[in-house]
Amino acid sequence: MQVLTTRQSLGEHINELKNRQLTLGFVPTMGALHQGHISLIESSKLSCDLSLCSIFVNPRQFNDPNDLARYPRSPEKDLEMLKHSGCDLVFMPEASEVYTEPVKENYDFGLLDSVLEGSRRPGHFNGVAQVLSRLFKAVMPDKAFFGQKDYQQVLVVKKLVKQLNLPLEVISCPIIRENDGLAMSSRNSLLSVSERKLAANIPRWMEIVQELAGTQSAENIKLRIEGEMSLVPGIIPEYFEICDPEDLSILQGSLKGRPAIALIAVFVGKIRLIDNCLL
Ligand code: AMP
Repeated sequence: MQVLTTRQSLGEHINELKNRQLTLGFVPTMGALHQGHISLIESSKLSCDLSLCSIFVNPRQFNDPNDLARYPRSPEKDLEMLKHSGCDLVFMPEASEVYTEPVKENYDFGLLDSVLEGSRRPGHFNGVAQVLSRLFKAVMPDKAFFGQKDYQQVLVVKKLVKQLNLPLEVISCPIIRENDGLAMSSRNSLLSVSERKLAANIPRWMEIVQELAGTQSAENIKLRIEGEMSLVPGIIPEYFEICDPEDLSILQGSLKGRPAIALIAVFVGKIRLIDNCLL
C-alpha cells in the first residue's frame, strides 16, 4: 500500500495507472476509520482494479469549530486498517495540498441545501462540495463510494458530479452497524459509556418506524417517534422526518406503496449522531 501526501505524487500515480488503463475506485474519508469505511473499500475492490482512500479532515465542512477541534484522529490505526483491507493507495494531504488556490466557488443544491442537514448545518454541503470537487479532479476515479449513513450527502454528491460534468459513478453502500444496531460513526468514540447506551435508542426508534410504516401515516409515525425521543433525558432531538428518497421533500399521509426514507439527527450529550432507514 502506497501512502501519498502531495498532489504531485498523487498525480504521478494517477497518470501511471491511467496509462495502464486500470480502473480506480475512490473512498473519501475524514479518518478515524471503522468497519463502515472499510466496507466501502471492500465494495471498491469488488468492482475496480485499484482502490484509493483519502484521509482528510476537511475544515470547510465543519460549521461548528468545537466539532472540528474534537473530531477524532487516529492516522496510525487508520493506515493499519487500510493495509489489512487490501487498499492500494492512500492520499493523506495537509490542507495546503488540497486548497492550493483561494476557494471562491459556491454551490447551489436547491432543496438539499435547505432541509435536514442542510438547514441544521449551514455551509456544510458547500464545504463538502469544495473538498470533493478538488479530490475528484485530482484522483479522477471511475467510481466513488459513499455510505448511505450520510444519505443526504450521497444525493448532494450525485448532484455535484452532474453539475461539474465529471465522468464518474457515485455508488451508495449500505450502513454498517454495531451489534446493538447503532450505525458505526467516527463520532461514536467520543461518547461516554452512559451516552453510548443512550445512543442505542436511535436504531431502536428506526425499528419502530419500520414496523409502523405499513399501517400508519407519516404524521402519526413522526408523532410517535418524537414522543419516544422526549422520554429519553440526555438525548436532544434535532429532527426526525419521513421524506421522498429522491429529493428529500417531506412526505405526508399513507406510506403504502410509496418509496420513503426516515432520517434522524440527535445530540447525545455534545455529540451529534445521524441515522436513516429506507422504508
Ligand atoms: P466520514 O469519514 O465520516 O466522512 O465518512 C466517510 C465515508 O464513510 C462516507 O461516505 C460515509 O457515509 C461513510 N460511512 C460512515 N459511517 C458509515 C457506516 N456506518 N456504514 C457505511 N458507511 C459509512
